[in-house]
Amino acid sequence: MKPARFEYEAPYTLDEALLLLDDDSRPLAGGQSLVPLLNFRIARPAKLVDLNRIEELAYLRRRAGALHIGALTRQAALERSRLVADHWPLLTQTIPHVGHPQVRTRGTVGGSVAFAEPSAELPVALTALDARFHLRSTGNVRVLSADQLFVGPLMTALEPDELLVEIEVPPLPAGARTAFVEYAETHGDFAIAGAAVVVAPGEHAAIALMGASTTPLRAAEAERALLEGAEPARAAELAAELAPDGHRRALVAALVREALERAGR
Ligand SMILES: Cc1cc2nc3c(=O)[nH]c(=O)nc-3n(C[C@H](O)[C@H](O)[C@H](O)COP(=O)(O)OP(=O)(O)OC[C@H]3O[C@@H](n4cnc5c(N)ncnc54)[C@H](O)[C@@H]3O)c2cc1C
Repeated sequence: MKPARFEYEAPYTLDEALLLLDDDSRPLAGGQSLVPLLNFRIARPAKLVDLNRIEELAYLRRRAGALHIGALTRQAALERSRLVADHWPLLTQTIPHVGHPQVRTRGTVGGSVAFAEPSAELPVALTALDARFHLRSTGNVRVLSADQLFVGPLMTALEPDELLVEIEVPPLPAGARTAFVEYAETHGDFAIAGAAVVVAPGEHAAIALMGASTTPLRAAEAERALLEGAEPARAAELAAELAPDGHRRALVAALVREALERAGR
């Protein structure tokens, strides 16, 4: 099918883009999720605001120890970044699971976050990393945590006139090790469940789950147990209690345990 008619705008600056957004518009980033929705007429915006010419939104920088990812940064740029591999290895471990190289060449980090697909890998890794999401509209700035941003399947707290402009990832605690594992029936397909972990024994434990809920979920009780010295198998059991049914519980338990073991716990 072909998309329904829409107006097309391709601004060069963030300020211009923000002025163009309204209740009937939709921003276009890499188009890897939005274009199929337009073609099937599942999405029928009156106006598309193409972000691809806005160079100020595509960057990876380290400032005051934190990683700043411009929303328009291609997933492939994150995958190839030495800075990211050296300081935020969880992102480097996660990104090869996102679709195929062709998808990652066009797909953006911000698009993956804003689309909020329940099986998307980057939102789960960013949840484990305590990322902060910077949103802008004309005259307003908001900074949200993952649990404030992701509100349901394909649903975020973003308003129609707002753009996700940056993702800020704090530095990892000293000595932290990380791992991402998932189960997908075919490599490159969306996964059924997954787990991202960040652990520094005795100091820090973060476990984020994919597939236990419709949004990325932190397994707070399992994290506390790990900090108190629980074995990976016990923490994995506690994390799996958040999954909705027996099959998923078994899968989540196995994935969390594997992730913790890969991270050296
Ligand atoms: C064959 C195939 C396989 C895939 N497999 C996977 C997979 O295994 N795992 C996975 O995670 N993803 C997968 N994807 C999706 C891919 O990661 C997309 O790139 C991603 O979901 C959307 O990013 P995008 O830049 O293409 O955004 P677009 O498709 O352009 O936009 C997606 C949505 O986000 C909104 N949006 C985009 N940028 C912003 C912004 N800055 N502010 C506010 N709203 C914004 C758009 O309006 C739209 O609603 C796959 C895609 C394909 C085609």
